[in-house]
Amino acid sequence: MARDVRRVSRPAWPLPDLAAVIARRLEEPRPLAGGEIAEAGTALSIGSAVLRQLTRANSAPGGASAIRGSRIGACARSLAYRLSGTATAGRTLDARARAVFALGDMAEGYVTAALGDGLAQVSGPGALRLRDVRSASGQRGISLSVDVAGETVEIPGHPDGMICRADTGAALALLEVKSAAPYKFDRAAALVGAGVSGWRPDLLPADHPARRRLVRDDVRPGEWFQAQTYLHALNLDYMGVVIVDKSSGACVSWWEPRDPAFMGTLSRHLERAQAHRGADANPALVPRVLADGTALEATVDLHKIRGTPNKGHGRLPWNCVYCPFWRVCWPGSEERVERDWSGRARRWVYTT
Ligand code: SF4
Repeated sequence: MARDVRRVSRPAWPLPDLAAVIARRLEEPRPLAGGEIAEAGTALSIGSAVLRQLTRANSAPGGASAIRGSRIGACARSLAYRLSGTATAGRTLDARARAVFALGDMAEGYVTAALGDGLAQVSGPGALRLRDVRSASGQRGISLSVDVAGETVEIPGHPDGMICRADTGAALALLEVKSAAPYKFDRAAALVGAGVSGWRPDLLPADHPARRRLVRDDVRPGEWFQAQTYLHALNLDYMGVVIVDKSSGACVSWWEPRDPAFMGTLSRHLERAQAHRGADANPALVPRVLADGTALEATVDLHKIRGTPNKGHGRLPWNCVYCPFWRVCWPGSEERVERDWSGRARRWVYTT
């Protein structure tokens, strides 16, 4: 695994560079600090996480749930479809998707084990331990209560672990480990290298040379909303985020701070999603808006002189391509497979 160690900011407690801890541990294979029992438990944990893609129709930890931390950043209308029990009609989990998830689970379990053991090798003042990581029997569940128009909504989630003081056991930060495709990893690494959170291109200075390249349609990704949900549920100030590139094995990490404005943003987003609940529920009236306020719209790309549609005209954002409701949300739209500059096939959805 390449050493790629970058940090955004340091909390008051001297939390380490997680990517550096992981890289050091991976470069020095040796028995786990907990001995054979720890090794057997880790093997079972990684194995069961991978196997669940093969053995369970709904493999999310904790089972199916209309609203959960990992999808809270999704567009308000997709949340409304889930809340109303609308049958899915869009992206399905095919063989490739399940294989990708299983590989991601494997990479995340491997990196988490390396991090936990790397931290366990250090003792004395400032020593840390990783607790509450996924075991073969499950993952610790948490829940955030949000007031939405006078009603309390519970948002469940499953953090990847808790970083604690070795001496007192006090929790200092949450841990989130994500595996990512190369383009997503490169984006996070570039942002961290530029001194901001790997999920916050909006924090780059307006004149930063990479801003145009790094700011996408959705300014803050769903992972940021998931992280804030967990931080607020457990009242912790920081989350240690590790991203591992599934292709190169490189890791990047940073400390994501809790955002005091998050609860208001979340409440507004859920209000939008729940605006058309009840007997006369009509999710089609809910705006197609992400949690950060970004509207999801079809690309408008017309010939400058003739006004006829160019090749990309009508293409839906990637969020819709991966949404299980795109066929009901955009009636009449169609799937097209196109090849990029390298000849790689890519699926898109177009309005017609
Ligand atoms: S298809 Fe797009 S706009 Fe419609 S619910 Fe899904 S993500 Fe939202």
